[in-house]
Amino acid sequence: MDKITIQNLKCNQHPNKNLQFIQVNDVLTQSVPTKPLFYCSSCFNHDLHFKSINYLMIDQIFQEADTNIIPKWPPVNNYQIISDLIDLTSNQSSLDYVKQITDFFHQLKEEFLNKIDIIQKKMINEALKYPIDTQQIIKRYQEISNILQFKQLLNNEKLNNLQDHSTLCKEFISQMESQKDKNTELLQSLLTQANQLKINFNMEYPNIIKQQLLTFIDHISFFNLDIPEVNSLNHNNTRNDLETIITSQSNQIGDLQLTSDLIMKLVSNKSNFCSDQFLNKLSESLQRINPLLKQFTFNIAVFKENKEQIDFYKISEEKINLIEEYVNHQITLSRGEQQFEKEVKDSLEIKQMIQIIDSKMSFLRQEFIQQFEKFLVDVKPFLKQINFTNTFTDKNKFDFFRNLKDKQLNALFQESLPNLDLKLLATQYNNGQINCVVNKKENGYYEIEQLDNSSWVFCISNTNLQKDQKYIFRIKVESLNEGKSFMIGLLRNSNADQNAGYYEYLSCYLKKYNQSVIKHGGYGIDKQLKGAGFKTSGENMIELRLCLKEQILEVLDYPNYEYKLGLQDKFKEKLTQFDDLRLYLGTIHQGSKLILMDVKIVNEFLN
Ligand SMILES: [Zn+2]
Repeated sequence: MDKITIQNLKCNQHPNKNLQFIQVNDVLTQSVPTKPLFYCSSCFNHDLHFKSINYLMIDQIFQEADTNIIPKWPPVNNYQIISDLIDLTSNQSSLDYVKQITDFFHQLKEEFLNKIDIIQKKMINEALKYPIDTQQIIKRYQEISNILQFKQLLNNEKLNNLQDHSTLCKEFISQMESQKDKNTELLQSLLTQANQLKINFNMEYPNIIKQQLLTFIDHISFFNLDIPEVNSLNHNNTRNDLETIITSQSNQIGDLQLTSDLIMKLVSNKSNFCSDQFLNKLSESLQRINPLLKQFTFNIAVFKENKEQIDFYKISEEKINLIEEYVNHQITLSRGEQQFEKEVKDSLEIKQMIQIIDSKMSFLRQEFIQQFEKFLVDVKPFLKQINFTNTFTDKNKFDFFRNLKDKQLNALFQESLPNLDLKLLATQYNNGQINCVVNKKENGYYEIEQLDNSSWVFCISNTNLQKDQKYIFRIKVESLNEGKSFMIGLLRNSNADQNAGYYEYLSCYLKKYNQSVIKHGGYGIDKQLKGAGFKTSGENMIELRLCLKEQILEVLDYPNYEYKLGLQDKFKEKLTQFDDLRLYLGTIHQGSKLILMDVKIVNEFLN
């Protein structure tokens, strides 16, 4: 009688049909509790909401459960997992890890032994080229020495008297003795050859290789977890990847043992200029021998105490090249060749920098300029970072100031000083205030003009001159008839209305002569300090210089400064003695016009 199984039970709804499907999912959440678990093919046809994922063919469980994974069993949230497992198991060969391992070792052993056999034979053959065997040496000795022939001779039974023996032996020994040189040579050669292998033979090296091979074998592993380097480094690394890895490990540098990573880190430093090709090759090779390298641990710091590697890899290629150029430049400089230094100094960049530095307007001490030039020579390669074409906004102006003579520059400087607003007033002397007008011009100049003829009129400044200031007064002779005279100088305010300006002998007496102004003589300021005599040029400008404290009171032609008249020594004391000295201009002829152009305070009298 047949065993009753689900397969041969009939469907309740369709009695002529066998049950074919079983619901294996959504059973828990079934909305209709009476819904049958088993389906026949007709149930399946009648169920309009049939969800195939929820049903399993009963047949499949019977046929495949023993050997296969069933796609819809067990109920899971993600059927992809089961599907992947099915894929995995259907590809038998890739799953067969143990077989792969076994095959590997089998193959390894075979190839290993074959290789060893070959090399062993090769080495033996090599060794056999040398006469190392005792038998061989003796055989060779016998050939050279003819000792066996000698023995035979002595053993010759046909000779029955001593005489015959003696004759033959003598002949033989003489023959051998005559070849003494040849014998020596051949035996020496034999000895040398026999010794040669002794010298050449090295047992240590094969032992090292053997040790390394055994170590290598120890490190054979099929599991990535055992080989951390394989995880972190693949063979196609570019230099940048490599650097990233190296950089990421830089914090642990103190703990690093000498591994391939550390070697790579040291070697791949940008400043070593190793080619990418080389680094990739080295990296590959180091990975290969890394297990071996790990035997060597160095419990010493990699870098010198308090020193860190210079992170050249952090700067650009361009800067690295610049540094290289700088170092080469320094090396050449350090040779102390004058010619090279001169060439550097004469380079466009440095010449231009020095021109700028040494410009009239920079006011730098020579010592500083020399230091700066030395510095520029030192850092010459870096100067190319500056574009020296079109350096100036206005090259003409730059050249103008560069070529300016000191004298011109000083004049320019004085011109730029602010004018003191020193007013001029006519004194009461000779009814000066009636006979003279003082006009203030638009540009701030004071012009005095004499109205009446033939009596001295004096115009004085409105303030006393300060003891410790250095004054420059510039007076222009605007209008003066030929041969006529005038005065400039100092007088005391306290008796300005009673006395003539020249009363204190602190004056210069001048007159018009041949369109110029010349010295007329004798009122204090007539001591020749520069040039011979006195003569103005051009616009007839006169400069009066005064420093009361230093007892300086001088008259010069402006702007040429070719002549200088100073105060007579005997009057100099007055400059420090009086507290109310003021500047004055004095005229005596109708129509005379003098203009006070500049009143400046300077730090120094130049020229
Ligand atoms: Zn049915």
